[in-house]
Amino acid sequence: MQRKILIVGGGIAGLSLGLALEQRGIAADVVERLAAPSPSGTGLYLPGNATRAIASLGLLDRVRANAAAVPSQAILDRRGWRLTETITSDVWARCGPCLSLPHARLHAILGAAFGESRVRHDVSVAAIDQSSGLCEVAFTDGRSAFYDLVVGADGIHSGVRRIVRPDVRPQYGRQVCWRFITHNVTAIEGWTAMLGNGATLLGIPVSDTQAYVYADLTLPAGADPESFRHASLPELFHAFAAPLHRLLERSQHDEARVHFGRLGQVDMDDWVQGRVVFIGDAAHAASPNMAQGAALALEDALVLAEVLAAGQDLDPALAVYSERRRHRVRWVQRQCATRDKMRALPALARAAIFGMFGDRLYRRSYAPLLAPP
Ligand SMILES: Cc1cc2nc3c(=O)[nH]c(=O)nc-3n(C[C@H](O)[C@H](O)[C@H](O)COP(=O)(O)OP(=O)(O)OC[C@H]3O[C@@H](n4cnc5c(N)ncnc54)[C@H](O)[C@@H]3O)c2cc1C
Repeated sequence: MQRKILIVGGGIAGLSLGLALEQRGIAADVVERLAAPSPSGTGLYLPGNATRAIASLGLLDRVRANAAAVPSQAILDRRGWRLTETITSDVWARCGPCLSLPHARLHAILGAAFGESRVRHDVSVAAIDQSSGLCEVAFTDGRSAFYDLVVGADGIHSGVRRIVRPDVRPQYGRQVCWRFITHNVTAIEGWTAMLGNGATLLGIPVSDTQAYVYADLTLPAGADPESFRHASLPELFHAFAAPLHRLLERSQHDEARVHFGRLGQVDMDDWVQGRVVFIGDAAHAASPNMAQGAALALEDALVLAEVLAAGQDLDPALAVYSERRRHRVRWVQRQCATRDKMRALPALARAAIFGMFGDRLYRRSYAPLLAPP
């Protein structure tokens, strides 16, 4: 008997799950709050475990054709002195290539593969009643329907989570960030980060001509994050030198649509609530410093599709999903916290640690993710 499945959220997690289920002969409804896909204007770095998951969906060639290869990661200090470099293509060799591309491109590829027209846009979930043992879902457009399973794939501010776990809210620290895509005027070739005191700059090529720029800042206690939304980035990051300061100057050109936000995370002890299950950022949004958000969302989708296709009852299937994902996700969350602490060290200690152990730390922090999920 076919189960009726509803996926809430048509982002990376939701579209990947819809596609992975379809590839296993399982149909699902997908609803998305936005009226149309919105080109976010940010970039995504995809380490080898993300591209391995994309290959499992049969989309690696399409993604590779729309992405830049990023075979190395360098960390510099704010003056531009190289502290460490890792050949990431070696680290991830048995998984997949390290690539980067505009977020909107990956979204469009997933949408085309799943069939964007099959996503019901401009609709969200208003209520979920599980008292009958099924999920009776009331939609915001006035319709309602019964489902065997509802999947919350609706991101860090998940509306589904607000309904079934209102006690779990995103937590925010004092970090804010800006992101945009611009011309790669400094011709950076690999993933290039520059570390300053309470501030980081990152540049990554996302095509032959464009780069994705990310800047974050830890605000003083009590500062109002909103007052930094329209700050002049070249001024705010004046202590940083080449190569990334020049890219930052591009934030003042019209072409750059600068996205500003606070960095938040979601800590949720149980991703299964009766017949509601969470994947992607809705379940475990984390600091972007491991660049694992898309990878974990894709892996969640593949593992959930696999356990649902295995044919066992729903409760044990969902327990297997949680069990298979828990260790990996917790590992990434812990590594993110450790990296944030290391970046907050005084400049000399930071330079010494990254200078002496940077490559080893990189390999250790990603080692468990090399194994298939
Ligand atoms: C600054 C920053 C940099 C990052 N850099 C990287 C990186 O380089 N590499 C990487 O892998 N990851 C990165 N990430 C993380 C990555 O973007 C996310 O982990 C990933 O997009 C999660 O996908 P998702 O589908 O779970 O959530 P989302 O991408 O948020 O998608 C959720 C979807 O659900 C929809 N939605 C929301 N609420 C509702 C609702 N109530 N009803 C219906 N639909 C709804 C939204 O409109 C959206 O389409 C970064 C994140 C940040 C903040």
